[in-house]
Amino acid sequence: MEPCPICKIEMDYTPDGDKTNVACRRCGNYSVSRTVIAQLKNQDLTERQIGNMSGWLRENPNYLINSDNLKFLKSITTPSFHARSDKLLSKLERLTTFAGEALEVKESWLSMSWSMNTPEMWEIIYYLKTSGYIAGIVGKLDTQFKITPAGWAYLDSLRKSNQQSMQGFVAMWFSDKMQDVYDNAIAVGIVKAGYSPHRVDLREHNEKIDDEIIAQIRRSRFVLADFTGHRGGVYYEAGFAKGLGLEVIWSCREDDLKNLHFDIRQYNCITWHQDKLDVFAKRIQDRIEAVLGEGPNKTNE
Ligand SMILES: [Zn+2]
Repeated sequence: MEPCPICKIEMDYTPDGDKTNVACRRCGNYSVSRTVIAQLKNQDLTERQIGNMSGWLRENPNYLINSDNLKFLKSITTPSFHARSDKLLSKLERLTTFAGEALEVKESWLSMSWSMNTPEMWEIIYYLKTSGYIAGIVGKLDTQFKITPAGWAYLDSLRKSNQQSMQGFVAMWFSDKMQDVYDNAIAVGIVKAGYSPHRVDLREHNEKIDDEIIAQIRRSRFVLADFTGHRGGVYYEAGFAKGLGLEVIWSCREDDLKNLHFDIRQYNCITWHQDKLDVFAKRIQDRIEAVLGEGPNKTNE
């Protein structure tokens, strides 16, 4: 056991070449390079930075923190109080396997609500409780909660109102090479435009379109579809989003563009190069801002 380089609670780690794979009870599963582990030992993150990074890692499982994206992670801004209570409620929904199931408060609730400390997490929990969306379990007061009927109704209304959504769904090929592209270009570009990226967890994906993917696309403001590798799932997800009337941002690695399906060529596709991921990130940010305007989380650097 070692302290998590971000939140400092004891975690399981597995060395894996130049990086370490972390399974943290608060931050979830992520990887971190040796250089960054050393860097983080010599500098203090603020509680707020820890809360934001931990929340981000929970939403972007298996993210690799390296020297290139550390600065970006440290500068992530905190979503509004209501955005965070919505995030927590939506994540509790995903953890609930049957209506009425009691869920125990754990360290993961800190990152699910992007809280910087326990008092803030409880403030969000009590807000959901006084709003009537969750209720304490009799006899387990303040340790277990369940989603109420009003909570389920509210979750439904959240899905219907995705004009206010700040989520950008990312449809892409899952491969080791593409992980770097996601971490250092796609996620960065979406955040800088003021939105939050959502990518389906690699381990759960298996190139299959399931209910969870459909639900996530429905609650998104837009879809970024990267066609590199030409996976059937990406074409399907982009088409589904178009059908819902969502904006789709199209992209493809330059040398793979010639393989793009004929029907897609009419769209203004952002092309990118593996060695120029910072340029790709900027182009994504510019395109999103041009098509949708700046997102709710936009900050001026
Ligand atoms: Zn952690």
